[in-house]
Amino acid sequence: MRIASYNLRVNSPVLNADLHCHSIVSDGTLAPEALAARAKANGVELWALTDHDEVGGQQRARDAALALGLPYLTGTEISVSFAGTTVHIIGLGFDADDTALCAGLAATRGGREQRARDMAAGLAKVGIAGAYEGALQYVSNPELISRTHFARHLVESGVCADTYAVFKRFLTEGKPGYVPHRWARLGDAVRWISEAGGAAVIAHPGRYKFTATEEYALFSEFIAHGGRGVEVVTGSHTSAEYLKYADMAREFDLLASRGSDFHSPNESRVDLGALPWLPGTLSPVWEAIEARVQRP
Ligand code: AMP
Ligand code: MN
Ligand code: MN
Ligand code: MN
Repeated sequence: MRIASYNLRVNSPVLNADLHCHSIVSDGTLAPEALAARAKANGVELWALTDHDEVGGQQRARDAALALGLPYLTGTEISVSFAGTTVHIIGLGFDADDTALCAGLAATRGGREQRARDMAAGLAKVGIAGAYEGALQYVSNPELISRTHFARHLVESGVCADTYAVFKRFLTEGKPGYVPHRWARLGDAVRWISEAGGAAVIAHPGRYKFTATEEYALFSEFIAHGGRGVEVVTGSHTSAEYLKYADMAREFDLLASRGSDFHSPNESRVDLGALPWLPGTLSPVWEAIEARVQRP
């Protein structure tokens, strides 16, 4: 008995699950079908497409994955405002037709067009004209115009050498193209996901500039609202952060997730499926929602 349960906990996280990436439906550069093929080719064994504030690519991603023999979980990444900071909440395994979830996502992405125009106005003040129209050239879903599209435009037009430099000089807090924005509330985002049958997961916690106290508040409130998991192994964490958030997952009794946050072959540091394993002492989110996995 002891040995069996020990083996289960050690072996179960060793699954090449990649539960975080983006397609042209939000700010990625590949179509859902191309991402499915890339995930399969890279050895991914369980996949989720998690476009920002949008489920418009879910059917295509699911159909392509299942046709390739790749198990699939529905996904999205919801923009939330918490303690004055933008926090991302991943939803996994929900019903993508759920009315309240779809309405919540539509409301969350609703402010993006005006925000983008305000960003362009800020950039115009420092001599960069026409950034809104420029960014739009890289957008396939106009409701999802994002900072990433501005970054691509500023790289292609020669203002900066890469997207990292654009964010640093122009698109982060205090910089000319940054516009504060009110996204969804944490409790609403967690509820939309949970009530649609899915599990809510805190995305890349290492990226937020929180104090320890604020971070504890985020985790505590997230759990109070029904949140289930945290990304431990993600393309945006350092190896020190894998350990830190593995500890946090255990301390808060949260399920652990793993995802590359892949956006583009040219821009992303970590490719689909190319991540270290989850530490063996954690409970993987994909086991807890196994019944929600769609299989070929
Ligand atoms: P938005 O939702 O419009 O605020 O855009 C956020 C997106 O910008 C994130 O999902 C990332 O894809 C990208 N992003 C944010 N910060 C950076 C950064 N420092 N370097 C490159 N991309 C970033
Ligand atoms: Mn993104
Ligand atoms: Mn994110
Ligand atoms: Mn992401």
